[in-house]
Amino acid sequence: MAPLANLDSYLGGRWVAGTGAPALLVNPATEEPIAQIAAGGLDAPAALAHARDVGGAALAALSFGERAALLRAMSRLIHDKRDELILLGMQNGGNTRGDAKFDIDGASGTLAYYADLGDQLGDARVLVDGEAAQLGRSPRLYGTHMLSPRAGVAVHVNAFNFPAWGTFEKAACALLAGMPVISKPATATALLAHRMVQLIVDAKLLPAGALQLVCGSLGDLLDHLGGQDVLAFTGSGATGAKLRGTPRLIERNVRVNVEADSLNAAVLGPDVEPGSDTWNLFVSEVAKDLTQKTGQKCTAIRRILVPEARAAELEEALAERLAAVKTGDPTHDDVTMGPLATAAQLRDVRAGFARLRQEAEAVGGGGGSVAPLGVPAGKGFFFAPVLLRARDSAAAQVVHELEVFGPVATVLRYDGGARAAGTLVRRAEGSLVSSIYSDDRGFLAEAVRHAAPLLGRVYVGSAKVAGQTAGPGTVLPQLVHGGPGRAGGGEELGGARGLAFYMQRTALSGDRALLDAITR
Ligand code: NAP
Repeated sequence: MAPLANLDSYLGGRWVAGTGAPALLVNPATEEPIAQIAAGGLDAPAALAHARDVGGAALAALSFGERAALLRAMSRLIHDKRDELILLGMQNGGNTRGDAKFDIDGASGTLAYYADLGDQLGDARVLVDGEAAQLGRSPRLYGTHMLSPRAGVAVHVNAFNFPAWGTFEKAACALLAGMPVISKPATATALLAHRMVQLIVDAKLLPAGALQLVCGSLGDLLDHLGGQDVLAFTGSGATGAKLRGTPRLIERNVRVNVEADSLNAAVLGPDVEPGSDTWNLFVSEVAKDLTQKTGQKCTAIRRILVPEARAAELEEALAERLAAVKTGDPTHDDVTMGPLATAAQLRDVRAGFARLRQEAEAVGGGGGSVAPLGVPAGKGFFFAPVLLRARDSAAAQVVHELEVFGPVATVLRYDGGARAAGTLVRRAEGSLVSSIYSDDRGFLAEAVRHAAPLLGRVYVGSAKVAGQTAGPGTVLPQLVHGGPGRAGGGEELGGARGLAFYMQRTALSGDRALLDAITR
């Protein structure tokens, strides 16, 4: 057998093999090893110095428009290599072709969006934030706010589920803002991010030091960060809390953004009649979220809130959808849902499902076990999609607290009141997104206003947008991504808002004409 390829890190302008016992990356459908990562040996001070002194200096010399050209070139390259990358997502992530496209097109699309934004900013090198204010009696004395790129390094730590999109949505904002990036993909699914960086390096698209890749452990890198550096993390709440609590980050006031767990809800309004456009939209978006990426999406719907009177019909409609799902090796044409990404994920999903079962019963999809299509007997990390129903929505605890990161969602019945729906949404103590499906303006206004303080994003599904939206599970670069509380308290993307994390806001006061010359 040919030796396994080692996924090296890209540091200091060259590919560097790690040290120590390697971790295996496997195909989660077949459990065949596909690559390995020797996790240790990162020279963190050297990587940070290369980013700050070489990459940071090069990016700082460019205007937004010039940085936009870099993003555009990356976006085009990823798009050109889409077919090759899709196969890697299928092989290492257990993605169906559609799942892999979702991840890869998310990467190229976000880069293209930020390239357009950079083009609009053109020759500018700083941004003006908000309106200027007259500070005294004389109209000459003005105050304004300016954003300039932070003179440090953007360290990115990503989750296993979106190796392409996660890596490049963060990189798009940091690079456009003018900060060099050191990016670490999750080890288990690093193949795709590694290949994408390799393509970008080989095509010489970026200035030296602008993008470095760590395959494996960050080692003591966080212990070397300073007050101009930032850390953007996506992953579990537990890891996020640990990283945020790193003493050095606290001592040096390193800016930290955390995107973590989320128990997103979808609410069906009491006005929605079975068979209507809004009903069909609800059923199809809930069913899609259950199975897309095998439920391993931070934005996936975990809690389905339905008026008591509609619950039976809705459960029937969803159970019918789930019965049509074909679970198996995603390289087989018939398969519509692949395996979970890792053995650890399968263990966690099984354990979480068992906890949910303490307060809910399965109404569709059975108990998660499945004979997967096209897979050697006993192999692969498969869990069939399951729909649960909480016995008592208000008394339930686990369903509002435990994110089961797989194809599992729970129906929660409510009395049809907007406040009751909003209160159930709030029980998750902070979510990335929740969706409310209704054409009743009064219901929507009350439910959305009640739930919004606990949500990063609200998706309103209604008859007029049916057929025109990608659904609540799709993160769009125009809108902020992040959520309060359990969801990590972070915020990414959101158009130009996404740049602010990587820039310093400085208040300026003085003669208006001089301020204009500085900020122009
Ligand atoms: P995880 O186990 O917390 O790992 C996330 C990342 O942190 C990985 O790159 C991991 O590297 C790294 N890491 C772990 N321990 C570390 C340490 N001590 N120092 C530095 N880095 C460390 O999470 P996951 O299992 O990959 O992702 C699943 C979770 O992510 C779910 O809870 C999901 O909700 C959440 N998620 C949130 C969002 C969002 O946008 N809010 C998006 C996607 C996923 P290794 O792989 O090398 O251990």
